[in-house]
Amino acid sequence: MHQVDVAIIGGGLAGSTAAAMLGRAGVKTALIDPHTVYPQDFRCEKIDGPQLDTLRRIGLIDDVMPAMTYDRQVWIARLGRLIDRRRGDQYGFAYETLVQAARGAVPSTVTFVAAKATAISTSDDTQQVTLSNGDTVTARLVVLANGLNVGLRHQLGIERVVTSPCHSITVGFDLRRRDGQPFPFGSLTYYGESTAARMAYLTLFPIRDTMRANLMVYRTMDDPWLREMRHAPEQALHQLMPNLRKLTGDVVVDGPIRIRPADLYVTQGHRQAGIVLVGDAFATSCPAAGTGTRKVFTDVEQLCNVHIPKWLASNGMDAAKIGQFYDDPVKQACDAASSTFAYQLRAISIENGFVWHLRRWVRFLARAGIGGLRELRSLLAAQPLQQRPGV
Ligand SMILES: Cc1cc2nc3c(=O)[nH]c(=O)nc-3n(C[C@H](O)[C@H](O)[C@H](O)COP(=O)(O)OP(=O)(O)OC[C@H]3O[C@@H](n4cnc5c(N)ncnc54)[C@H](O)[C@@H]3O)c2cc1C
Repeated sequence: MHQVDVAIIGGGLAGSTAAAMLGRAGVKTALIDPHTVYPQDFRCEKIDGPQLDTLRRIGLIDDVMPAMTYDRQVWIARLGRLIDRRRGDQYGFAYETLVQAARGAVPSTVTFVAAKATAISTSDDTQQVTLSNGDTVTARLVVLANGLNVGLRHQLGIERVVTSPCHSITVGFDLRRRDGQPFPFGSLTYYGESTAARMAYLTLFPIRDTMRANLMVYRTMDDPWLREMRHAPEQALHQLMPNLRKLTGDVVVDGPIRIRPADLYVTQGHRQAGIVLVGDAFATSCPAAGTGTRKVFTDVEQLCNVHIPKWLASNGMDAAKIGQFYDDPVKQACDAASSTFAYQLRAISIENGFVWHLRRWVRFLARAGIGGLRELRSLLAAQPLQQRPGV
């Protein structure tokens, strides 16, 4: 029997980050997860500047930075043409390494319980979590951070509503040049060459000494192209992006190919006493939009910095208190932006028709314009003053 103020169910990115923040703030917390070491999992594999800023703000940057590889320089390209080249702002990692790093930031005052939560009973005051090892955890508040797992929510009448089944599919693999030479870029974002490719983009980025690839496609799981990708990946990539080789050279896919569909869903019936849902447990994002970790960090930051301290300062944990988190304008804006971007990216990647073609070209030309200006600025900066045009 464990008695705490906050019981967190799920030690993935959301749960571990929350445990680290609450533990450091001196809140009596238990983190419940069946895995002492987070298992290998194909999830988010890179974050960028704004997400890093959040990690800095919540005080975890020093803990997670050693798990990440900086990309140094980003190339943006389409149709085999480099359209922009800028300083890198992406950091690659294996998901399990990032979660372990977040767990490393959890102070020893937080009780880690290596078990699965099998049942929850809630009330306006005290919540009880039953565990697979026969233990129970009693808490004033339960934070449900159990990701895609649907089991527990049913007991409480919390429903998951799928809003876009198989919204996108992420394909993950390692890539190297056939000639053994290094790639000429730190990382590369390569947009689909046509709507027929049914892809958003391919992103190549370093994780330690490996060039990792995440390819975001809009297809169904029985699409023959996915079969081809499993059995003859180099041909499948060439078929999808015939001009990619101009930038990467001839490439070879190394090791396993991971293919993961993502449904978009939201939650209903969650405004209940004693329990609050965060991260993927509340709503998923589209991996192509790359907003999942931003949602996780926003949820956790608002919950642990703004709401939990207030809730614990007074008696009870009724549904009205919990509702303050779901009504939080920062959380709501982040969720709304994530959902909007997921649909916009899909539409601009695969929709046909004049308006969408126009939008694609505007986006392409805008990026090329920014890239051209950046290139010009760095050329000018490299020239001595008297040699510059017009001086
Ligand atoms: C293929 C893919 C690529 C992605 N790429 C990106 C990207 O590029 N950028 C981005 O920002 N986001 C991306 N995302 C989204 C991002 O990975 C997720 O939003 C994020 O990992 C969610 O973290 P979480 O803590 O909510 O869930 P998870 O990390 O899944 O954690 C859930 C935890 O709950 C535990 N658990 C489950 N059931 C129980 C139980 N009954 N009792 C106790 N513990 C339990 C599990 O063991 C696990 O540790 C991607 C997702 C996928 C699938």
